[in-house]
Order: sequence, then structure tokens, then C-alpha cells
Amino acid sequence: MKTLSNFINNEATLSQSSKKSPVYNPATGEQIAEVALSTAAETQAAIGVAEAAFAEWSKTPAVIRARVLFKFKALVEDNRDKLAELISIEHGKVFSDAQGEITRGLEVVEFACGIPHASKGEYSLNVGSGIDSNTLMQPLGVCAGISPFNFPVMVPMWMFPVAIACGNTFVMKPSEKDPSSTLYLAELLAEAGLPAGVFNVVNGDKESVDVLLTDPRVQAVSFVGSTPIAEYVYSTASANGKRAQALGGAKNHMVIMPDADPDQVVKSLMGAAYGSAGERCMAISVAVCVGDDVADNLITSLKDEIAQMKVGAGTGVTPEPHMGPVVTKAHQEKVLSYIDLGVKEGADLVVDGRNFTVDGYENGFFVGPTLFDKVTKNMRVYQEEIFGPVLCVVRAKDFDEALQLINDHEFGNGTSIFTRDGDTARQFEENVKAGMVGVNVPIPVPMAFHCFGGWKRSIFGPLHMHGPDGVRFFTRMKTITKRWPTGIRAGADFNMPTMK
Ligand code: NAD
Repeated sequence: MKTLSNFINNEATLSQSSKKSPVYNPATGEQIAEVALSTAAETQAAIGVAEAAFAEWSKTPAVIRARVLFKFKALVEDNRDKLAELISIEHGKVFSDAQGEITRGLEVVEFACGIPHASKGEYSLNVGSGIDSNTLMQPLGVCAGISPFNFPVMVPMWMFPVAIACGNTFVMKPSEKDPSSTLYLAELLAEAGLPAGVFNVVNGDKESVDVLLTDPRVQAVSFVGSTPIAEYVYSTASANGKRAQALGGAKNHMVIMPDADPDQVVKSLMGAAYGSAGERCMAISVAVCVGDDVADNLITSLKDEIAQMKVGAGTGVTPEPHMGPVVTKAHQEKVLSYIDLGVKEGADLVVDGRNFTVDGYENGFFVGPTLFDKVTKNMRVYQEEIFGPVLCVVRAKDFDEALQLINDHEFGNGTSIFTRDGDTARQFEENVKAGMVGVNVPIPVPMAFHCFGGWKRSIFGPLHMHGPDGVRFFTRMKTITKRWPTGIRAGADFNMPTMK
């Protein structure tokens, strides 16, 4: 059985830990590797390596740091297929979807290549007589990233390209469920010429995470994962004096107004609900239909579309299926138990994804596309994140009721509205309580030069990922007020300094 290593100081480094975690191919259900879960001492050693690399990297000119990232981007593009295959085999998502994840991650690398511009600060001449003022955006030191299983390339790329471009060094703790693609990114960074120790990968579980949250040498922690862990990470890191951003779970609603283009709605909803087997933090898991006619027509169309869907292994199958399995057996069981629960709670199960098998892949962790109608807000299948291919249709009598549903929900990651009426869309944009909003766009994931993040319990901490917030998160601002020449003499002034 292959044991996956850490990557520290630009070298694959095998952990000596006796704790191991299995890595599966979810399409076949076979264990394909194991990953050693690093000890606290190994995690501390990785932080030490990153700390030692900081002195030189932080003083390296921003243009030189950016050039390493330009090279890294070219290497990822050259090796895109290998990377996509690593993602698909361990995560289960289909190959072309894995390629899409890489593209969205690379956009953050492109943004980070512009760091000389993005971090150049501000300058004001003559803020007082002969006095000028400017800001410096300086790196923090060692930063840590902790990522979820569902985007093993894109989510780490939300974090480390901006962090290292800003002059920080980094310790990345990927998900133990699918760490190979993140490890491969570390190899490509080394090949791109990133100095040893600037980017390190430590595999592990809570033991490693707790070191990253408490070790005084770590200055900032960037986390993406489920809400309970996000809350824990944010509160522990903050209590230990660190800067923290922690993105959590989601339950994204799509509002369908009676004037929306029905064909566009169905096509958009199919991809947004079932793409990547629903294991996306921006997946649409609730369709809010305004009016019974909208709901009845939508259910009929969705049933037809679902009947055409192909589900299968993410790689090695032609033509490529629309969606693959979910990530582990435990997760498959969790999703199936939510379907049981929905039935018990009285939702109308229109398409049942239980007892779903794929020929030749009988042991794979598959869940068929599932559709519930007449879901209500007091049901747990509505309130909780299922993170699988399960779409809940909720019926609302009007726009206000639909908006209220979203605003009352615990989560506020993404949302969208489908309508041809600009007035309704504008009201939605202004009043909906969610961080990322789509208008006739089902998955409104912001581009890298904007910021990614939700509201409410989908995020802990004020700053979102990448874009201007990313640069703010990974730099510390210093404001200089200076007088040149020093020839101007003034007497002692015991009052608050003001411009006279
Ligand atoms: P998870 O919370 O189980 O794990 C995330 C990371 O935390 C992993 O690296 C894991 O090893 C670590 N971890 C797990 N338990 C821990 C503990 N007790 N103490 C310390 N660390 C721990 O999440 P997951 O199942 O890997 O990913 C799916 C979740 O991530 C979903 O809730 C999804 O909505 C969320 N997600 C959110 C976003 C977003 O942008 N808001 C993006 C992607 C995924």
C-alpha cells in the first residue's frame, strides 16, 4: 500500500506517525493509498522550516516572487491532465470538472502574479507642511492553510498563491481524504524555483491542525470546511492571537420567478444541483419556486432531465458521465440517511437516488440524483447541509416569502434568482443576506480579482478569499508619516497633532 508523504523544504518527507488514514477511489470503493497523519512534533518542525525561509523570501522583490508564480502557472498548465486525474481518482468528480477546478485555481495564481501592483500601497504628498505619508503592505510571516476534500486543488489555490506572492511562507494541511493533488502542486512549485521552505505540505488531522492554531510562530490561518470546524478554527486561532478567516458550510437557494425562462432554469439547475455530485459549497441545494405552477412545471422538467443523466466513474469512461460518486462510504451513508429522513419528515420524494448502482462499479460510493418536492422550512433536510446530489424544491407564494426564507436560513454562502424583471432582480441583489449573488447565473463564484466568501454562519472572520481581501489578509499595513528635509524646526507641542 502506497503511503503518501509530507512535502517539506522542497522534499517529499515520509511522516513517522503510526496514525494512518485510508485514501479511496470512490468509484471502485477500493483503498488506493494511505496517508500518515503527522504528529504534533512533525507539524512544529514544518512550521520551523517555514519560519527559517521567511527571512529571505520576505525580502525577495515582489517581481521576483511573481516570476516564480508565472513559471508555476505554466507548469500546472503543462501537467493539467495529470493533476485532473489525481483529483478525479481520489475525489470522484468527473475529469472535465476536475479540469474546471484547476482553471478556477489558476485564475488566483494569475491574480497573484500581479502582486507588485496589488501590494504597492498608497502615498500622499504634503499631509502636513513638509510631511508626506505612505503605506507599506508587509508580509506576516508563517501562514497556514487548512482545506476541505471537495476542491483539493482550487481551495488551496485560493490561499497559498496570494500568501506567498505577498512574501509569506506557508504550511498547507490538505484534506486527508484526497491529498495527492495538493502534494503535486508542492512539487510543481519547487520545480518552478520556489525556494525551499516557502511552501510546505503537512498531512494530518486535528492533532496537526491544533498545532497550526496554537503555535506562536504561525501568524495567520486560512480555513475552508464545514461550519462546526470553521467556527472552532476561527475561535481557537483568534484566541491564540492569530489573524483568521474560516469559510464554512452552505445551503444555497435559487429563486425561480414565474417570468423566468423555464428552459434556462432547468438546464442551470441540473448542473448547479448535481454537478460534482452536489459536493460543492456553491451547489444549489434548494430551488424556491414562486407559485405552484412554476413548481409543477419545474418538477416535470427535472424528472425528464434526471432520467437522462449518466452517473459513473470520473475517469476512464467514455462518454464522460455527468456526475461521479461521493467521496467516501461514510459520506454516502450520511447522504442516504438524509434521504430517509426527508421521507420521514413528509417531503415528497419525486426521484429516489437510494439503492443506486453503476454497472462494473458495484462497490463505488454512488448516490443517484435525488429530488424532493414540497419541502418546508421546518424540515431538517431543508435546514442542514447534505452535501450530496439531493435537490429540495420549496414552494413560496410570492417573492417576499422566497426572500425571507433565504434571509432566515442559518447559512448565507451563495444564492441566485432567475427572472426577466430587472426590478425584482434589483430588490433581490440589495436585500438578500448572502455573500455571493447570481442573477440568471446559477453558481455565482466570483473571479479571482473579486473576493469569495459568504455571510452568516458560512464564514467566520471579516475578510474573504482572494481579490483585494486576499492581499489584505496576507499583509500587515504600516503607515509612515515622515518629514524631509528635517530643517523645519518646531517647538514642543503637547496637543494632538493637527494641520494648522
Ligand atoms: P471538514 O470540516 O470535515 O474538513 C475540513 C478540514 O478540517 C480538513 O482538512 C480536515 O482534516 C480538518 N478537520 C476535520 N475535523 C477537524 C477537527 N475536529 N479539528 C480540526 N481540524 C479538523 O470539511 P470537508 O468534509 O472536508 O469539506 C466539506 C465542507 O466544506 C462542506 O461543509 C462545504 O460546504 C465546506 N466548503 C465550504 C466552502 C466555502 O467556500 N464556504 C468551500 C468548500 C467547501
